[in-house]
Amino acid sequence: MHHGRAVLKVVFCGLPAGRTCFRELWFSGNSEAEACEGRVPPLEHGVRLFDTMTREMRELQPADGKVFGFYCCGPTVYGPAHIGNFRTFVLNDVFRRVMEVSGLRTRHVRNITDVDDKTIRDSQAAGMSLSEFTRKWTERFHRDCEALNCLKPHIEPSAVEHIPEQIEMIEALVEKGHAYSSDDGSVYFRIASFPEYGKLARLDQQELELGRTQDRRANADEYEKDSVSDFVLWKARRPEDGENYWESPWGQGRPGWHLECSAMSFKYLGESFDLHSGGEDLKFPHHENEIAQSRCACGGHFARAWFHPRFLMVDGEKMSKSLNNLHTLEDIERDPGATAMEVRYVLISAHYRKQLNFTFDGLHAAREALGKLTRSEALLAQAAGREDEKPPSYRELCRLESLGVFAPALAALNEDLNTAEGLGQLFKGLRVAAVEGDPLVNWLGFHAVLAALGLQLPEPEVPEAPSEVVALAEKRQQARIEKDWAGADAFRDELNKLGWSVKDGQNGYELKPL
Ligand code: AMP
Ligand code: ZN
Repeated sequence: MHHGRAVLKVVFCGLPAGRTCFRELWFSGNSEAEACEGRVPPLEHGVRLFDTMTREMRELQPADGKVFGFYCCGPTVYGPAHIGNFRTFVLNDVFRRVMEVSGLRTRHVRNITDVDDKTIRDSQAAGMSLSEFTRKWTERFHRDCEALNCLKPHIEPSAVEHIPEQIEMIEALVEKGHAYSSDDGSVYFRIASFPEYGKLARLDQQELELGRTQDRRANADEYEKDSVSDFVLWKARRPEDGENYWESPWGQGRPGWHLECSAMSFKYLGESFDLHSGGEDLKFPHHENEIAQSRCACGGHFARAWFHPRFLMVDGEKMSKSLNNLHTLEDIERDPGATAMEVRYVLISAHYRKQLNFTFDGLHAAREALGKLTRSEALLAQAAGREDEKPPSYRELCRLESLGVFAPALAALNEDLNTAEGLGQLFKGLRVAAVEGDPLVNWLGFHAVLAALGLQLPEPEVPEAPSEVVALAEKRQQARIEKDWAGADAFRDELNKLGWSVKDGQNGYELKPL
């Protein structure tokens, strides 16, 4: 039921002629192709997840019965994302994949924060325009996401591209008495006007009361729980902002950081949507502020459930610039032989509700595990008669009826995205597959679980043939050129006796151990 239209009319009535209503844009805004259409109707038993708001396990189904819409707070593009950031993004990717492999369609929206205190500060330090600077780091983020095999979100809106939408939202908040402008031309959200403020982060009542009653205001994008306060929606232009300002009814300035996600989730997902996510640090103040803005401006429910993976740590400490323990993907790939896929494996190796400690030992263990999966794939493919065949496409894997002995691995992922248990069940499935089930179903099921985890297997290492084997293969090749078929067969037999198979292709022959 969409009761939101009426509310929208109230909130955004009087849009200038020709301006498109948010809801209409929502339907036309998804220009990128859906990666996976999924089965409709969805599975009987949907995916269950721990909802940070209610602190309960919730069964997740699309409220509209068709597409599961979720919003993930994206990166602030002022430098390379570190692997801590990627724990959050990779787990969101696994979440989406699990939904899709389980037969549901998704609409995944993830924003790019390309204007805030940090992007402005660092673009100026780099002597670049804000757009040049953020483009550089957005491109780097995309390259890293691709290396980590993260699906592209269906929609990736940026804050700078949505200034008018943010201004409209502030206007609605001012009109309804939830926001006020201050002497310097900034506009603040009045937290006392929203009694539910603090519910997600379970803010301490005393702090809340101080924030509500004292004349406290936060103009910075980030602040701690002990300074609960009215927060900035529009920041009046300051000299240090340079050329980074926009015109608004309150004068020149720029939106506060928290606003962009409210404006963009509304535009692309509507006033109520299925799930919202971000790292655990975003619960307060960012998500608390998003809830306040969206609920007060749009009137809908905003996110129906919340997903907050916990932090990645390094050597037992929080990964942070000040501790000088940040690792980017590039840093890690300097470890001889290390790959992005090993990083992905590490990032999903623990349950998202537990902190994960990154170590290079863990990375090396991931390499071994991926090697084992690669060797096992070859055996499964052989049993299924699919040797030398490419695995089915992601789209095909989203439509499987049965996962054979690998069904328990997907079931573990469906239960609170338990990636640790899912990996355990994947390896257990390999042992069971050796003695049980239809080999073709098992091979497909194995690939479906890999697709849900987003793991790509390295190419199997083919050992180099010893020189006497190569010499025999060359003699056989010469016999074939001379059309001496009996001679060629004899050389093949000799090769087989030495434990090697030979296969002819368009570009010569290929030797493989038997
Ligand atoms: P930022 O680019 O700082 O806006 O952060 C992007 C995302 O990474 C946010 O969802 C953060 O909550 C998340 N994040 C930041 N540090 C970590 C960490 N050490 N572990 C997991 N997620 C993190
Ligand atoms: Zn956000």
